[in-house]
Amino acid sequence: MAKREHITDVFVIGGGVNGCGIARDAAGRGFSVFLAEMGDLASGTSSAATKLVHGGLRYLEYYEFRLVREALAEREVLWSMAPHIIWPLRFVLPHHKGLRPAWFLRLGLFLYDYIGTRKLLPPTKTLDLRSSPLGRPLKDGYATAFEYSDCWVDDARLVALTARDAADKGAVIQTRTKVISAVRENGLWTVRLQDVDSGLKGTVKAKLIVNAAGPWVDSVLREAAGQNDANNVRLVKGSHIVVRKLYEHDRAYFFQNKDGRIIFAIPYERDFTLIGTTDQDYKDDPRDVKISEEETSYLLAAATEYFERPVSAADIVWTYSGVRPLFNDHKSKAQEATRDYVLTTEGDAKTGAMLNVFGGKLTTHRRLSEEALEHIEKVLGSRGKPWTKGSKLPGGEFGPREFDQQVERLNEAYPNLTDKFLRRLVRQYGTRATLLLGGATRMQDLGETFGADLTQREVEYLIEHEWARTADDILWRRTKLGLRIGAGDKARLETYLTTRKTRGRK
Ligand SMILES: Cc1cc2nc3c(=O)[nH]c(=O)nc-3n(C[C@H](O)[C@H](O)[C@H](O)COP(=O)(O)OP(=O)(O)OC[C@H]3O[C@@H](n4cnc5c(N)ncnc54)[C@H](O)[C@@H]3O)c2cc1C
Repeated sequence: MAKREHITDVFVIGGGVNGCGIARDAAGRGFSVFLAEMGDLASGTSSAATKLVHGGLRYLEYYEFRLVREALAEREVLWSMAPHIIWPLRFVLPHHKGLRPAWFLRLGLFLYDYIGTRKLLPPTKTLDLRSSPLGRPLKDGYATAFEYSDCWVDDARLVALTARDAADKGAVIQTRTKVISAVRENGLWTVRLQDVDSGLKGTVKAKLIVNAAGPWVDSVLREAAGQNDANNVRLVKGSHIVVRKLYEHDRAYFFQNKDGRIIFAIPYERDFTLIGTTDQDYKDDPRDVKISEEETSYLLAAATEYFERPVSAADIVWTYSGVRPLFNDHKSKAQEATRDYVLTTEGDAKTGAMLNVFGGKLTTHRRLSEEALEHIEKVLGSRGKPWTKGSKLPGGEFGPREFDQQVERLNEAYPNLTDKFLRRLVRQYGTRATLLLGGATRMQDLGETFGADLTQREVEYLIEHEWARTADDILWRRTKLGLRIGAGDKARLETYLTTRKTRGRK
């Protein structure tokens, strides 16, 4: 008798925050799920964000009340879901004479405080920058500011942990695997895949496809699904610069610019300040996106308008850029294009269905996934109730205000390891730091080191549990140790990874 071919319920294209979020939700409800990502997890837009879990104060100006309300409510939901990689951040918004009037900012922040659920985050307050230490890094002349709450997230780790949880719930996650075509036949999809490293090809049969390819969502429709005229997203580039720390305190600044845009200056990875972002229409391959000289000058000038000490190109230690896949609502300016998401389903259970994801933010990925599951269940039938609100991501099994306790616990368990090292591990792995450290008692027990405090044990953990394969996966997406590791150490890490791979093949 012929062997029955396995048919996956849900096939997800794209391992960004939205693809992984949908895969996790679907796997948790009992669907069989297969996710293919052509690069590394979060190698598209989901590692290039400003990294805020925020309502988006600016979006109120464009009347995006639905989005802002949903996003505001998600702040505390996500913070509780992953308190190791998400935490509250206070923003200082100076009033700038000649730009938005103070009453207007106050009104916006009043709405911000009250239209979304907020139980743990503190409300807005007014500051006198002439007497507050928060005014010290700024030029004289800024008198009034408003301080309000949002949250910070390690975007690439959010994706890796969401994928980890999906896999723990049974999803197959395959990175470096490109979807090259998808053909519908007798109510089923035949999806053709290619391993980008080896070139080997394979197929998977699925009942429903989720196209969560971010900036590539139209290319997938055109190239893989034969919809030659697909034109649903507007690609808008945004860049950031990372400079050596500009000030000592832990608040972020929200600066208004004369062109009506805004930029943030945010404490970053302990020793740095992150400045961004820009909004520029983009036409090229999203993989090739990088900061232009014009964007660098714009960000330096915008920061220098506020900080007492001019910020110059010599301060820059790293830059990154990403492409927002915004739903095309045909607005004239890139900064005005909607940040809300749109989901569309074509086909049904009889023909084979495809769900397309247009737009969507890190902040709203969990709600977007719930809505995606409503579409999926309409086609495949109901499997379970929404479950992700109140759930935990791997390592996040502690209360939103218990981060320091978690570090203390680890210090007690590993008295010979430094607090700085353990604190970093709790930030990245939460309760799973103990899984990584195991029975080690001293740093030497963790094997070779590759600069900063990156050890062989951590590298192996990331390969085994988080799909890391290359030095960039480890240094720039699973950690941000790329900011601290020089070219020599990176080369040693690359050699280690290659030797390990060759050894594995023998
Ligand atoms: C500059 C900037 C700042 C931002 N700041 C914030 C912020 O502060 N807060 C916030 O909430 N949001 C922010 N966002 C928005 C947020 O980052 C994105 O909306 C979100 O990451 C999009 O995720 P995604 O999964 O849809 O896309 P992506 O992360 O791009 O994932 C899509 C994936 O699909 C893969 N793929 C494509 N084609 C194929 C194929 N054929 N086969 C297999 N895989 C394929 C790609 O490799 C990619 O990894 C920002 C975005 C930008 C650009």
